[in-house]
Amino acid sequence: MDENAAARFRSKIVAGPEAHDCWIWTGAIGDDGYGRFWTPTATGGQRMIRAHRYALALLTGGLDELDEFHVCHTCDNPLCVRAEDAPTSHLYAGTAFDNMADRARRGHHNKQAAAAFFRHETKQQRAHRARVLRDHVRAHGYDPEAVGSLLRGVTSGQQALF
Ligand SMILES: [Zn+2]
Repeated sequence: MDENAAARFRSKIVAGPEAHDCWIWTGAIGDDGYGRFWTPTATGGQRMIRAHRYALALLTGGLDELDEFHVCHTCDNPLCVRAEDAPTSHLYAGTAFDNMADRARRGHHNKQAAAAFFRHETKQQRAHRARVLRDHVRAHGYDPEAVGSLLRGVTSGQQALF
């Protein structure tokens, strides 16, 4: 992995203060609501990769190894890049089947705020909300109350954002 790219990647992460909080990606966001990151290729070009995939690749040692896997979120927050070699990780590599089984298993019992936020949304809604969340974290840092509210799709004031 390219060390400069890795350092650039890490500089765009804002980790929550609590032990189990998400680590929010504050870089570019694509139209699917997921983070975007560009890494240099061996031939001098650039490769675009989803930020959560890159986060896990940093752990596993390479992007190629990940190519056949889906990278799944335990938190359903598309901006979360919390990849750790520990049970506290919010990201893991699985097959497409794992991904579906995991969603089915968690279903409506998931108490994570992000679940209600991002599930059952169109791509456009998800992208919009992801950008609002990112912009808030960029401007104010990880304010747990605000992040929680944004993850539920409502601002901390009276006015619903969406
Ligand atoms: Zn998370």
